[in-house]
Amino acid sequence: MNERDARFAEIGRALREHNKFAVLSHVRPDGDALGSTLALSLSLKELGKDVRAWNEDGMLEKYDFLARAELLTQPPSAPEDFDVAVALDTAVQNRLGTTAAAIRHAKLWVNIDHHPSNPRYGDLVYIDPTAPATGQILFELLTNQKFPITPAIAENLYAAISTDTGSFQYPNTSVRTFEIAAELVRCGVDVGRVSQLLYENFPRRRIELLRDLLDTMRFGCDGKLAWFSLSKASALALGVIPEDNEGLIDHLRAIRGVIVAIFFEELTDGKVRVSMRSKNEAVDVCAICTEFGGGGHVLAAGARVRGTLPEVEKKIVEQACAAIERNT
Ligand code: 5GP
Ligand code: MN
Repeated sequence: MNERDARFAEIGRALREHNKFAVLSHVRPDGDALGSTLALSLSLKELGKDVRAWNEDGMLEKYDFLARAELLTQPPSAPEDFDVAVALDTAVQNRLGTTAAAIRHAKLWVNIDHHPSNPRYGDLVYIDPTAPATGQILFELLTNQKFPITPAIAENLYAAISTDTGSFQYPNTSVRTFEIAAELVRCGVDVGRVSQLLYENFPRRRIELLRDLLDTMRFGCDGKLAWFSLSKASALALGVIPEDNEGLIDHLRAIRGVIVAIFFEELTDGKVRVSMRSKNEAVDVCAICTEFGGGGHVLAAGARVRGTLPEVEKKIVEQACAAIERNT
């Protein structure tokens, strides 16, 4: 048995042998976090387990079409005991947010993720930084361990993988990713329907937000760096909610000549959320974000940095430009 299968066997055994589970994922969740949480929760429920699927932000409006979306809720204020708590797609434990406080005790912590910066917290750990989505790892785990994959589970895994690969476009999208997608379609996923709900169903305010962001667009580093910013005042005036901005940074990354794109979002706690994307493996945005207390992947990373919007913009733009000049 190879290393991967041995790990899967160990995790599979822990899942089969226990009864009460909490399945968790990171704050400000994306499609991979929510789809993966639902997929694993549903598979465990098929096995007759008692499962809570929690995220600090609950189910986002834009993903509430996912099969059995109602299962995923915000954590309760009164903590509960569990046999097993599973953290999915969560690079550091504190990104579990309020869900961690809702677990009074768990006999076992399982950590399944694809972030290279994951410090391997927990008792049973499976990190595959080559996987483009946690949903891809879960597909491998569930099939390897002969856990159920119903059409509802397939739809959630498909949404997880589709969103985290930028619709099968990012460079870590592999032969295996397409094989898994094919398998999920065979399980009943309606690609046209899911894609339309994921990518052609935005609220109008998201596009109004994009118009506002494009007004703040700036370039630096000979056009290799592009950024835009959202102030608290603009967010309030536009009536946007946090989930509205996921993916808007791709408009900057899509510009010819741009290597690094940055999105700055002024938060209410005196910090600025920094979201970075790179088009070149030589310019590691995770390394830049890590210096500011964040993390992520080589080509997609983030951090929350204390300071005003102009202060944080200046610091981060300088570091990003230095990284581009050093490495290209
Ligand atoms: P996004 O820019 O879409 O918010 O995040 C891109 C990637 O960076 C994701 O994989 C996410 O997990 C990671 N990331 C974003 N913000 C933070 C942060 O504040 N801390 C850490 N450790 N990772 C982050
Ligand atoms: Mn992910």
